[in-house]
Amino acid sequence: MKEHFLGVDVCGDSYEQLSAKLLEDINEDRKSFIVAINPEKVIKAQEEPSLKELLNKATYQIPDGIGIVIASKIKGGKIRERVTGIDMMLKLCQLAKENDKRIFLYGAKPGIAEEAKNKLMEMFPGIQIAGVMDGYEKDQTKIAERINQANPDILFVALGSPRQENWIIEHMNELAPSVYQGVGGSFDVISGRIKRAPEMFQKMGLEWFYRLVKEPWRWKRQLLLPKFLFSVLTSKSRE
Ligand code: UDP
Repeated sequence: MKEHFLGVDVCGDSYEQLSAKLLEDINEDRKSFIVAINPEKVIKAQEEPSLKELLNKATYQIPDGIGIVIASKIKGGKIRERVTGIDMMLKLCQLAKENDKRIFLYGAKPGIAEEAKNKLMEMFPGIQIAGVMDGYEKDQTKIAERINQANPDILFVALGSPRQENWIIEHMNELAPSVYQGVGGSFDVISGRIKRAPEMFQKMGLEWFYRLVKEPWRWKRQLLLPKFLFSVLTSKSRE
């Protein structure tokens, strides 16, 4: 069941439910596409109908961002937990390892995907990483050839948003993988180049606060959270 926030769909599934569906997608050779939804993207989608359409085209929109959880509570929805892009990616790596599925890392600055690959091999011994490619290669034919030759089941795309979502929609039908996930800055985090908030902050729903202190220039982006909640509240009867 999907919930809707200002016209943007969000899946109510847990990591486990999603993992089961994604494994089925791979086994049945069905294409699926995961996109992370946060208040910033929902607000942006209000101003750009094409972005809203793009987000709604994904198979699974995951509730990344505490704002979505709060909004679901306000609207009487069922979403009680974040499903973050990076944790979903790690769950998919575990799934790949356990079921002999192959992953491919595409995106981030030259060298980063390779470093993320090494970290993932330490975290999930035996995982099959079919290939990596940086996100600054311009030749689309070369990118598609590399991915198809490697023949992975799951493709992680780290080009930032909405570039990665656009790229996935545009190319998924000509590519071999079944499952596609846009993962933003996750390769930077996994490689160890960028640190995530300590677990305590994540558990308390305060990752945004940690990031605000560490990266104060993000305050403008964070002001979108109250704006988002206010819009959801006032649209309650309509959507
Ligand atoms: N990136 C890329 N190619 C580009 C532009 C960006 O591979 O042409 C990468 C960039 O190196 C970084 C990621 O995309 O690893 C963007 O991460 P960010 O955290 O900005 O994305 P967000 O999750 O905020 O959309």
